[in-house]
Amino acid sequence: MGRNGISNTDSYDVLVVGAGPAGATAAKVLVESGYSVAIVEKKKLPRYKMCSGIIEARAQQRVEQYFGSLPDRVFCRQRVLEGVRVCISGDSLIDPMPDAPPMLHVWRSCFDHWLTLESGADIMDETELIGLEQTDSGVRAAIRRNGNEGLQIEACYLVGADGADSRVRKRLEPDFDEGIGGFMQEQRYCLAHVDLDPRYFYAFLDPSLSPFFAWLSFKDEYLVYGASAERGGRTAVSMDRFTELLERNFGLKLEKVVEKRGCAEFDMGMRGNFFLGRGKLLLVGAAAGFMNGLGEGLSSAFRTGAGAASAILEAEKSSEDVYSLYAKLVKPEQEQVKASWDLIRALSGRDY
Ligand SMILES: Cc1cc2nc3c(=O)[nH]c(=O)nc-3n(C[C@H](O)[C@H](O)[C@H](O)COP(=O)(O)OP(=O)(O)OC[C@H]3O[C@@H](n4cnc5c(N)ncnc54)[C@H](O)[C@@H]3O)c2cc1C
Repeated sequence: MGRNGISNTDSYDVLVVGAGPAGATAAKVLVESGYSVAIVEKKKLPRYKMCSGIIEARAQQRVEQYFGSLPDRVFCRQRVLEGVRVCISGDSLIDPMPDAPPMLHVWRSCFDHWLTLESGADIMDETELIGLEQTDSGVRAAIRRNGNEGLQIEACYLVGADGADSRVRKRLEPDFDEGIGGFMQEQRYCLAHVDLDPRYFYAFLDPSLSPFFAWLSFKDEYLVYGASAERGGRTAVSMDRFTELLERNFGLKLEKVVEKRGCAEFDMGMRGNFFLGRGKLLLVGAAAGFMNGLGEGLSSAFRTGAGAASAILEAEKSSEDVYSLYAKLVKPEQEQVKASWDLIRALSGRDY
């Protein structure tokens, strides 16, 4: 693992903000090419990430390509899920992709920590990016570590991999965030019985339940289910409606709610509204708006993290501008995200 302390100003070839899959992938590719890379992560690692932890086929190929085989410790007890089942309304379930290959099933805290350690970068957790300045040679980042301010990292490039509620994006383009919509999401970990096959992930698209969608899966001994509310709304109302539907149509018997978690999500991906960065600052993964239909984001996190690294490597060899190189590289991924939301719109008849 990386160093324990930093001086008041440190310098690296590349500073990665955020220790999720997108940041870890960018760091891994760059470290392997001989670059000095620091990852700053505001939370203590391993950190919790609200997620169903499903790695679908494209994401599996990408994690294998960049990191190799997953170690046992990242998996849930139900290591493999057979597929996704969708409930449009009532109690009928359809399998929209019956031929899709099985999906891997992980705990994100363990998975993301493994990816981050594998990157080989210097890792600074409990270290938050709080300010940004573009300089002639790249970027100067102000960071807060364990409550201490006045620390800086200088780098030739910055990769903003700081998730959906990206500080880097807000700093670079404050007006952009004013124009995007979003949701609050809640997920509950419960001890419960429900008449659903634990080998599947379930998505409930009925708009009266949740403005995004509602979801359910099984993780170790937990039944995990969640729903969203419009920004400013109350997720508890959506969760009550969803709980009632599960009780009425799928025999839910709740024994105990062990934990409730929440997070903000944005509509950038579903609107095809991406923000890729500026100058030598590139945004990747959820920070840039890459989230596919039904909330799948890992495949894009790997692809865009690697894309940012490739663009940096290419820019150093050529006279081409790194932002243009990156935008070109991730264009197909943007098309893929848009197509995935078109499919969900067609399936549900809803205008996401
Ligand atoms: C409820 C839910 C379920 C989901 N389920 C799935 C699923 O099953 N499969 C799937 O493929 N996708 C799923 N997704 C989407 C997936 O979680 C994201 O697409 C993915 O995590 C994006 O990875 P990332 O590396 O871009 O960002 P993240 O994984 O969000 O990582 C960003 C990191 O940046 C850190 N950070 C933030 N701000 C700062 C700062 N200022 N300074 C330093 N660090 C900072 C954060 O603490 C975080 O660790 C789900 C999302 C949600 C909300």
